[in-house]
Amino acid sequence: MSRSQQLYQQACQTIPGGVNSPVRAFNGVGGTPVFIERADGSQLFDVDGKSYIDYVGSWGPMIMGHNHPAIREAVIDAVQLGLSYGAPTAAEVTMAETIRSIMPSMEKVRMVNSGTEATMSAIRLARGYTGRNKLLKFEGCYHGHSDSLLVKAGSGMLTMGEPTSPGVPADLAKHTVTVSFNNLAEVEAVFAECGDDIAAIIVEPVAGNMNCIPPAQGFLQGLRTVCDKYGAVLIFDEVMTGFRVALGGAQALYDVTPDLSTLGKIIGGGMPVGAFGGKAEIMDHIAPTGPVYQAGTLSGNPVAMAAGLATLELIQDPAVHQSIADKANYLMTGFAKAAQQAGIALATVTVGGMFGYFFTEAEQVTSFSQATQCDIERFKKFFHLMLEQGVYLAPSAYEAGFVSFAHTQQQLDDTIAAAAQAFKAL
Ligand code: PMP
Repeated sequence: MSRSQQLYQQACQTIPGGVNSPVRAFNGVGGTPVFIERADGSQLFDVDGKSYIDYVGSWGPMIMGHNHPAIREAVIDAVQLGLSYGAPTAAEVTMAETIRSIMPSMEKVRMVNSGTEATMSAIRLARGYTGRNKLLKFEGCYHGHSDSLLVKAGSGMLTMGEPTSPGVPADLAKHTVTVSFNNLAEVEAVFAECGDDIAAIIVEPVAGNMNCIPPAQGFLQGLRTVCDKYGAVLIFDEVMTGFRVALGGAQALYDVTPDLSTLGKIIGGGMPVGAFGGKAEIMDHIAPTGPVYQAGTLSGNPVAMAAGLATLELIQDPAVHQSIADKANYLMTGFAKAAQQAGIALATVTVGGMFGYFFTEAEQVTSFSQATQCDIERFKKFFHLMLEQGVYLAPSAYEAGFVSFAHTQQQLDDTIAAAAQAFKAL
C-alpha cells in the first residue's frame, strides 16, 4: 500500500471523506487522492516521493508557481513580527490601495478570509443597500458554500451530483433565482417579471467551476445594462478570474465595470484570503460606516497580506500575464492536436492563464447543459492516465485548469506528450 493510500485510510477515520474540501477526495475521478508533501515551482511532490507537473496550482493562487522565493521571504519577514494583532496595520492600507490601482472599480475594499466569505458578504451588502431580497445567479457558477449561493452551484456540487445541498433552508433558497449562463434573454425575462425585487446579479465573468466557459459576446455588457435599468447591483465574482485572465481581471479583459467584485486566491498568494469591494457609495453601507454588519477576527491578517502583496507586486510585470496566456494556449493547442491524431473528440478553450478541455463532439462549449453532457467516463480515464505519467490535472471534469509563470517549455511539451499517450490509450 502506498503512503498516500495509508494516509487516506487513516484520514477517513477522523476527517469526513478524508479531506477538508470535497473535490480533493477524487470523488469526481475515483481512486485514492494523492497526499502532498511539498511543492516547488510548477511541481508537486507526494508523500511517496513521486513528482507531478501541477495544473491545479492550489486551485488558482499559485500564479507565480509554488514556493516563490520573494513570496516566501515576505512571509518569513512578516512572521517575525507576530502572527495576528486584531488591530489595523499599514499592510492592509497598501493592500486596498494596490487592489484599487489594479482594479479601479474597487474604490473601497474589505478583506476577508476566503472566497466564500467575500461573496456571502457582498450579497448581504447588495441586499442591505437595495432593500431587496432576491438574487440572480447562473447554473453551474460556484460562489462558495454560503446558503444563498449553494443553489444549482458548480464545482464539488456538480461532482457530487447535488443540485442544492441539504441544510440550505428552502425559505432562503427561494430568494435565489437561477438562470442559464450566457443566456441574456432568460435574465431579461426574470427581470421583466420581478426585477424590482432583485438585489443583485452575481456571476463568474468567466465560468471556471463547470470546466472553463467564457462569456458569450455581449453577455456581461447585457448584465450591466439590465442592472442599470432595474437598480440591481452587478457583482463580478473574480475569486478565480481576478489577476488571472488579465492583470485587471475579467472586468478589464471584457471592459465591463461591475458595482461590486469579490476576490480571493491570488490576492492571498496561497494564504487564506478573500476580499470584496466596489463603488464607495455601496461599500460605505458596511459597518462601521454603515448598518450592514460584517466582521472577521483574522481579516487582513499580516502574514496573509505579506504573501498577497508580494504576489501582486510580482504579477504587475506585464511579462507574467503574457507568459501564462501563451503557455495555456500552447498547452491546449497541443492537447487538441494530439486528440485529433488519436481520433478523440475534444474541445479546448483558454482565457489568459486559465484553460479547459471537454470530451465532446461540439466545437465549443458555451453552457452548463453542454458541459454536463460531455463524456465524463473518458475524462476519468484520461485523468488517471495523466496522473500515472506525473501530470496533476484538476480531479474533476468541472474545474478549470491553471498554468503558472513557473511552468517551463519542457514541462508543457512533456505534458502534451503524456496527453498524446493518454488519448491513444482511451
Ligand atoms: N467564487 C469562485 C468563482 C470560486 O472559484 C471559489 C472557489 N473555487 C469561491 C468563490 C469560493 O472560494 P473559497 O473556496 O476560498 O471559499
